[in-house]
Amino acid sequence: MEPTTSQNDDDQLANSKRTLSRINGLVNEMTMQQIIDKLKQLDVSTNGEDNVLKQRLKGVMREKVYKNSNIKSSKFSTDYYCVIDFEATCEEVNPRKYKHEIIEFPALMVNARTLAVESQFHFYCRPVMNPKLSSFCTKLTGIDQKTIDSADAFKVVFQNFQKWLEDVLGESTFVVVTDGPFDITRFLTIQCKVDKIPMPYWASNWTNLKRTFKAFYKLSGQRFPTLQDMLGALKIPHDGRLHSGIDDAKNIAKILCQLIRDGCQVKPNEILANYS
Ligand code: AMP
Ligand code: MG
Repeated sequence: MEPTTSQNDDDQLANSKRTLSRINGLVNEMTMQQIIDKLKQLDVSTNGEDNVLKQRLKGVMREKVYKNSNIKSSKFSTDYYCVIDFEATCEEVNPRKYKHEIIEFPALMVNARTLAVESQFHFYCRPVMNPKLSSFCTKLTGIDQKTIDSADAFKVVFQNFQKWLEDVLGESTFVVVTDGPFDITRFLTIQCKVDKIPMPYWASNWTNLKRTFKAFYKLSGQRFPTLQDMLGALKIPHDGRLHSGIDDAKNIAKILCQLIRDGCQVKPNEILANYS
């Protein structure tokens, strides 16, 4: 009797899993020089700390095995990643109930296949509850009073953002990517409450890149990496000014693209409901 298609698929999957486990075992036994030589042979970047290079080799090999066997390596797929990094009003020490207001709203639309940044959204927002920026906030973010005084309120910028999403995406799918949970769980949540805007659908399930990064490169310890830790581990130079929303977003996008090139399946890993 001929094997059924699903039997064939199951056999192929089992074979691929065995191959992968053998490859991972081999990579674990390799010296760093052997790993670097293999990455060079595969024409893959050798920039990065030792643990990064090791996981990169495993990730790239995993993608090759899946590609050769015609098996989809992940059920998740998206057309775009939308990298967002809000800056918000703040004090040197923010009381637990401090009502942050978003003052910078940058977003980069990254094509998940080509990894090109296809469109950029970038506006400052005028805070309403705390219209005067603390000198600490200006020093931290580089945003001055004049810039926000002449900006639209968040509500207006948010509407423009939703319009930008529609214009850029059409029918395409996307996932929001942030550096940590706070952009969504703190800044956007507070701002939407203040402005009486329902939380947008795209914020209910998103990617916290720190979590993705820690899991993929198998970083030890409890602590999640900072933006600079991630760039440092990948040996990617930090561009621009730390805590400038648009510069942070560009640096986050570079990390996202390297993760994807390294064979990481970047998928949503945070659910807003878990935080409320
Ligand atoms: P980031 O994306 O790390 O630039 O931070 C986003 C926002 O978090 C900033 O605009 C501030 O509102 C707040 N924030 C970040 N770092 C600090 C800090 N060291 N002290 C107080 N607030 C901060
Ligand atoms: Mg930032």
